[in-house]
Amino acid sequence: MSRLLLLATGGTIAGRGADSATLNDYSAGVLRGEDLLAAVPQLQDLTTINVEQIANVDSADLLFAHWRDLVSRIREAFRMDPDLAGVVITHGTNTLEETAWLLQLLIDDPRPVVLVGAMRPATALSADGPLNLFQAVQVALTSEARGHGVLVVMDGQIHGAQRVTKLATQGVGAFASPGSGPLGWVDDVGVHFPMAGGSRQVPFAGLDLPEQWPQVPILYGCVEPEALMLTACLHAGVAGVVFTGTGAGQLSAGERSVLLAWPGKRPLMLRSNRCGSGPVHRCAEDERLGVLPAGSLNPQKARVLLSLALIAGLDREGLAALLSATPLSATP
Ligand code: ASP
Repeated sequence: MSRLLLLATGGTIAGRGADSATLNDYSAGVLRGEDLLAAVPQLQDLTTINVEQIANVDSADLLFAHWRDLVSRIREAFRMDPDLAGVVITHGTNTLEETAWLLQLLIDDPRPVVLVGAMRPATALSADGPLNLFQAVQVALTSEARGHGVLVVMDGQIHGAQRVTKLATQGVGAFASPGSGPLGWVDDVGVHFPMAGGSRQVPFAGLDLPEQWPQVPILYGCVEPEALMLTACLHAGVAGVVFTGTGAGQLSAGERSVLLAWPGKRPLMLRSNRCGSGPVHRCAEDERLGVLPAGSLNPQKARVLLSLALIAGLDREGLAALLSATPLSATP
């Protein structure tokens, strides 16, 4: 029987509330990975699972240091253990998509890495964590999951790391993959992937993560955004900026004039959008402003990519080349 590695990081799946009717006011990241496994005895019939605790936090409190530990542990596990079938990561849902995307860009192994969370704490009536965990293990054990990249399993759906996002604050079906839909689904009959996995680009496969990460703020577009936010970022000497532009990644006149008037070296900048789905394409003014379109990446994923690009020492041309390479390209 093959083995799995379960890396626990906290979140609502490991959360405890005062009573079983408490769905919102609970503490995330309380139970340990062993407790989560103990709640699903059916897993013992499927495989052997070794558990390690990387963190036990609400995912809003996840740090770059946790990401560093996660990445080095997964790389090491795949390198050292040829019989390891895959890795399952329990994670808070709030920033789960960022960790999934980070791993997609850094982990170069066809074996599945599956992230799973829960929308209801472990103590809730009809807690969704146990079934989500069971299904994440089912997915991680199937050979069909190979070659699909890093996966997210929530509410019976299997999502790819690039598209998946949390779209709702409540309800067990809070995750979706806008523009493409899920890669597959999992139920009591088995794991279903309509399309076979293939080879994929892992642009930062060999990259070592530093202790100190570049500063990359995200600025949110709205009617008359405060120009002082962008000015403050430029004065602070941030390494990168992600704009959450309106519509198809539109920057306001105020932001554009701040950029055009800035006398110093500009940070590496990406234009994403606040719509929640659809691509941001290149536009004529990008060159003059020094920005690049983020394609189909939402702002938080654009920030992950931009941070890794900065760590890798890419300049604007290098980042542009990376963004235009499939499958990072701006397909709607
Ligand atoms: N606050 C939780 C978190 O750690 C939410 C969740 O896991 O659903 O992200």
